[in-house]
Amino acid sequence: MREPGRLELTDLPQPHPGPEDVKLRVEAAGLCTTDLHVIDGHFPATTPVVLGHEFAGRVVEVGEKVTSLTIGDRVAVDPARPCGRCVFCRRGDVELCSHFSSHGSTCDGGLAQFVVIHESQAFKTVLAGEAAALVEPLTCVLHAARAALPHKVAGGKALVLGAGTSGLMFVQALQVMGGMEVHVLDRNEDKRALAQRLGAAVGLTSGADGAAVGGGGQGYDLVVDTTGHIPLVQASMARMGPKGVFLLYSVPHPQDQLTLNAFDLYRRELRIVGAFAGPHQFPTAVDWLERGLIKSAPLISHRFPIEAFGEAEALLRRGGPGVRKILMLPWSGDDSGAARSPGDTVTHSSRDEVGGRQP
Ligand SMILES: [Zn+2]
Ligand SMILES: [Zn+2]
Repeated sequence: MREPGRLELTDLPQPHPGPEDVKLRVEAAGLCTTDLHVIDGHFPATTPVVLGHEFAGRVVEVGEKVTSLTIGDRVAVDPARPCGRCVFCRRGDVELCSHFSSHGSTCDGGLAQFVVIHESQAFKTVLAGEAAALVEPLTCVLHAARAALPHKVAGGKALVLGAGTSGLMFVQALQVMGGMEVHVLDRNEDKRALAQRLGAAVGLTSGADGAAVGGGGQGYDLVVDTTGHIPLVQASMARMGPKGVFLLYSVPHPQDQLTLNAFDLYRRELRIVGAFAGPHQFPTAVDWLERGLIKSAPLISHRFPIEAFGEAEALLRRGGPGVRKILMLPWSGDDSGAARSPGDTVTHSSRDEVGGRQP
């Protein structure tokens, strides 16, 4: 990304690992709505930058001080690079780091054939590359769910708004974590059906006002928004039961506002929780995917070579039936890739613009 809204496919010099870094051959990189916010200039980025914060790959080169990884290891990547020194880092809230830095927005990310990361950001896994690319989004879901449910709500009821990749991860994670009965709301029949195959008890559609129709009884113990659709968020706040939690997981527009009834918040002991990124969750996310507690295959709907980024981006913006996680496969459009040694320059046949901002 040259600057917000201006993308191109280009050749860059091979990145070289520093003493504590490893170089990865990227196997898969997921797209998510955060990338759209970066492209649209609503999420801070340092340009020019290689996009992509959800990626996994094989170690092809290690710095001389690296001790935990060797060439050939497959790893999932924590894209965050907290400073470790600010007050937020020191108290463990690394996602709030005053010097926020992350691959894919402030430094080069995984929408490339190779990327260099610090050793501490790599988490070894036996997962295949495509499943390993889902580790990062799952960490965000786990961090958010743990923020919303500091104590387990065994037997509680949750309503998940939206049955895209994140919604389907919540459907599964809330069953594993809290034994919750999960209801899901999505206007697409295929997504409701998939959510129910993954264990959701009830599939709901929305009424004319955007509010969920049916379900919930006395109200939900937890309502999770994964849609970012503010009218739906606003209408669904009324679905919280006593002591209910509303978890705002989606990425709203910076200007979005919500209103709430202050007396209701007080008297019914409601909580509104925000959550950002997935600090400290990588070991759990890798473990749960490896053990099949979270099923990844049904969450992936599309795969594209990087050359088709414009098409992938347009599909992500459009959404709708059948669109779940979109993966970019940096080597799929390049037959010679596997034979290339890590030291070579990466050369694409030069196709310049890869779509840029979609109308
Ligand atoms: Zn993401
Ligand atoms: Zn910090």
